[in-house]
Amino acid sequence: MTTAESRTDTDELFIGGAWRTPSSGARITVNSASTEERIGSVPEGAQSDIDAAVAAARAAFDDPNGWGGFTPDQRADAMERLADEYDKRAGAIAAAVSSQNGMPIAVAEKLEAVFPPLLLRYYAGLARQRPFEETRPGLLGGSTLVTSTPIGVVGAIVPWNFPQALAAFKYAPGLAAGCTFVFKPSPETVLDSVIFAEAIAAAGIPDGVINIVPGGRDLGSYLVSHPGIDKVAFTGSTGAGRSIAEACGRLLRPVTLELGGKSAAVILDDADLDLAKIGEQLFSSTLLNNGQTCFLGTRILAPKSRYDEVVETFTGFAQYLQVGDALDPTTQIGPMASARQRERVESYIAKGRDSGAMLTTGGGRPEQLDKGWFVQPTIFAGVDNSSVIAQEEIFGPVLSIIAYDGDDEAVRIANDSEYGLGGSIWTSDHDHGVAVARRIETGSLGINAYLPDPTAPFGGIKSSGLGRELGPEGLEAYLVKKSIYL
Ligand code: NAD
Repeated sequence: MTTAESRTDTDELFIGGAWRTPSSGARITVNSASTEERIGSVPEGAQSDIDAAVAAARAAFDDPNGWGGFTPDQRADAMERLADEYDKRAGAIAAAVSSQNGMPIAVAEKLEAVFPPLLLRYYAGLARQRPFEETRPGLLGGSTLVTSTPIGVVGAIVPWNFPQALAAFKYAPGLAAGCTFVFKPSPETVLDSVIFAEAIAAAGIPDGVINIVPGGRDLGSYLVSHPGIDKVAFTGSTGAGRSIAEACGRLLRPVTLELGGKSAAVILDDADLDLAKIGEQLFSSTLLNNGQTCFLGTRILAPKSRYDEVVETFTGFAQYLQVGDALDPTTQIGPMASARQRERVESYIAKGRDSGAMLTTGGGRPEQLDKGWFVQPTIFAGVDNSSVIAQEEIFGPVLSIIAYDGDDEAVRIANDSEYGLGGSIWTSDHDHGVAVARRIETGSLGINAYLPDPTAPFGGIKSSGLGRELGPEGLEAYLVKKSIYL
């Protein structure tokens, strides 16, 4: 086997703790989002590879002398070893993600390569502290022993936008609980999963605890409905989430769904819009990862009293952003993850123009970049909240500015969405911000910033999903309870 850094082409799949020859000769080839050049390839998993991965995960789960017999402390030890091995490969993982999906390397190094070890150590700590059984005194006399045991073999499906962090949202709590995993990465981001597999092997995680089978939507569907799977953990689009929910509904199979978003960034009338103070946070809350982030506040709600100032601020901000090769450390906006994704974003820009909204900057491709799937940071002002660009998830560097009059109207517009995932409030009065935040229908919000914290539950309402990841709540999602009446 070659080293993590050099292995851009593999012929094997990581199943049952070993590199195995896949059952079919099909391959997934990945091109750089910045240069469009081929950067590597991996075997594409077939249904029989999923069968083998599920069998390996089941064997590990059931092994009383291996993972299945580990105490919470032993699981935590293994997770901390994996975090250490992950840290050793953080640079290679960040570069692989960045090359594939266009995530600026500065973002990949700060978030994508950092969240997995952070979550592994956090959940290892919870595994050590959390009692996995308790005896409760009964109201009718006697008492009850309540046990929390791992839910079993998890089928986990992740998208391409934060492939490593979103996988860790699942396996970190899941391993703490004692589950085993079959992961299906997205075809756009498979090279980072090879490096992750190497970290798993180097950490001495027992064979079969985490298996990785890359493939597309059909392979995902096969995994979701596989008879050997006990729970599905999915992050991706709302459309795919609905079909997965239908399959899990039929099977009565537990499922966590982290889906799309169209969140509001509410600029209150008392906001301090000095970009020297808030620019970085505003950027992370509205345009992070080239706009390819589910929780971003892409509907900017601006008070009529300060509307022109808000439009001017965002327009200037977007013009100032450094657009370029994702691997350049000074890049703030990289390319879209694929040609298809750029087409999608451009089709929404066309719809924005047709809607009568005013394009204040962007709207095209950057002239100086003739290779790569780039789109200029784009701002639309005068947007009606009922228009397509305000209601549908664009997943690119495109923001819509919507006017409101008074807090009540801001809340009404923020809540007038199919989605409810993230959002942010911008204010110089903390209490005012929290009061408005309480009224917004969403899974999470930030005041003058937005970054999910590992200790707090993260997830959506309405079409943004079901269930919660992160925090102690994220661990509960991988446990089943049993009551033994004593
Ligand atoms: P996608 O739904 O097309 O694909 C996501 C993953 O699911 C991929 O691995 C894909 O192969 C697989 N898949 C697709 N259809 C499937 C099906 N019917 N059955 C099983 N698997 C299937 O999404 P994408 O374009 O890769 O990612 C972008 C979407 O993900 C956006 O909508 C974004 O908002 C969402 N997302 C949500 C969160 C969150 O935490 N809520 C985080 C990141 C991304």
